Amino acid sequence: MMNEECGVVGIASRNPVSVSIYYALRAIQHRGQESTGISVFDSTLCRIKTHKSMGLVERAFGSRDLDKLKGNIGIGHVRYSTAGGSRIENAQPLTISTQFGEISLAHNGDIVNADALRAGRKKEGWAFTTETDSEVIVRLFAGELSQTKDPVRAMARVMRQISGSYSLTILVGNRLFAVRDPNGIKPLCIGKLPSGSGGAGSGAINGASGGNGGGGYIAASESVSLDLLGAELVMDVQPGEMVEITADGIAGSIIAPGAPRAHCMFEYLYFARDDSVIDGRLAHEVRESIGERLAEEYPVKADMVVPVPDSGRTYAIGYAKRSGIPFDEVLIKNRYIWRTFIMPGQEQRDINVRLKLNPIKGLINGKRIVLVDDSIVRGTTMRRIVNLVRSAGAKEVHVRVGCPPIVSPCYLGIDMHTVDQFIAAGRQIEEVKKEIGTDSLGYISIGSMVKAVGLGNSLCVGCLTGKYPVPPPDNATPRKTKQKCI
Ligand code: SF4
Repeated sequence: MMNEECGVVGIASRNPVSVSIYYALRAIQHRGQESTGISVFDSTLCRIKTHKSMGLVERAFGSRDLDKLKGNIGIGHVRYSTAGGSRIENAQPLTISTQFGEISLAHNGDIVNADALRAGRKKEGWAFTTETDSEVIVRLFAGELSQTKDPVRAMARVMRQISGSYSLTILVGNRLFAVRDPNGIKPLCIGKLPSGSGGAGSGAINGASGGNGGGGYIAASESVSLDLLGAELVMDVQPGEMVEITADGIAGSIIAPGAPRAHCMFEYLYFARDDSVIDGRLAHEVRESIGERLAEEYPVKADMVVPVPDSGRTYAIGYAKRSGIPFDEVLIKNRYIWRTFIMPGQEQRDINVRLKLNPIKGLINGKRIVLVDDSIVRGTTMRRIVNLVRSAGAKEVHVRVGCPPIVSPCYLGIDMHTVDQFIAAGRQIEEVKKEIGTDSLGYISIGSMVKAVGLGNSLCVGCLTGKYPVPPPDNATPRKTKQKCI
């Protein structure tokens, strides 16, 4: 399983925003489960107040925590980190004090030249309190702000220095900004919040709608946050754009022009929720279309199309539709198992798989099965699921995959760091087929995947081709030692 590396939110309204941010974060919890935080500008105290915690949004915030975050403008964050970086100090938003007041930043992405920038600034005497990319961004921004006195010009200068993927929500005192990197690698959209309706006041997180009735605007990593709050999707932040968000409107300008668009194709195939619209494309439609194209590229005579739950479901629906082979959910997921321990020995590992998935033997026995999933990275999970289906009596098992073979690391904020973790790297499809023990194997082609996404050449496909929209770091190794997403 791969991990996304964070989600961001920012809201400006005429009413308190902490509860709305809480709900918006819960909608994008899949983007990071290790820590979370909310910062709001408290106009009474004239300062930014923050609550951060390890773990899920639901457990991190009680009504009293949200009550203390009084303010009509704020940002939020959910975070995934590598194991070593899962510490409260690295939770976001990250707030620093400057001569112009406080700045708070939430970041989704990865700055490939952060180490070099940090080293250079350290030589100049700068002090850093974390090893995170976010601190590099926020300190560069503060430095440029002291020169320019203008957040937009300051960010334009920062964007000329940093390279990588970043979608940001930033509080500069009582002003809220949303920023997207010049290639638009990570998603970031803006919605208009409803006004006049009831909704939850500050602190009311039980049984409330999450909207605050005060109107205004929201920026979020995925449109599902907007849906939850009843907001209307207005726009995607454009690559290289900085948008100021107030309760009354939005005003954006492209401050880092000229780079080719390179939206992460993995958002459409894997990370984003099925119901998210990213840069005008609904993830569900993309996945179903890929499933249909898979059926055209890799037809097979079979009795049943079976999704790997839940990740393969939409692809399998598309495959079944186009092939005419009946769709059935005969692998039943135990929804109350989130983690299993890594245990030695094949028997224990098989128990782990069966703990999560149980095949309905009576429906599988004697059947030719098309098993569909969104992607294969290491291949270990797929091998176990194929075994599981065979052990339930399947006559044949044919695997179809919604993502083309992953062969290169991601330097841009996804937890795929080394080539040796990819089963498809350096192997022919036939070898992968043997490794996972399937009767046939079909990955969607890159061309068909790109057509299904429907954005032409505006995609990053670096992990499929080794060609990235920004140069990889000098040592060509993703920065594993630092905390991701910052
Ligand atoms: S390399 Fe792959 S996972 Fe990373 S940003 Fe590009 S498409 Fe997304």
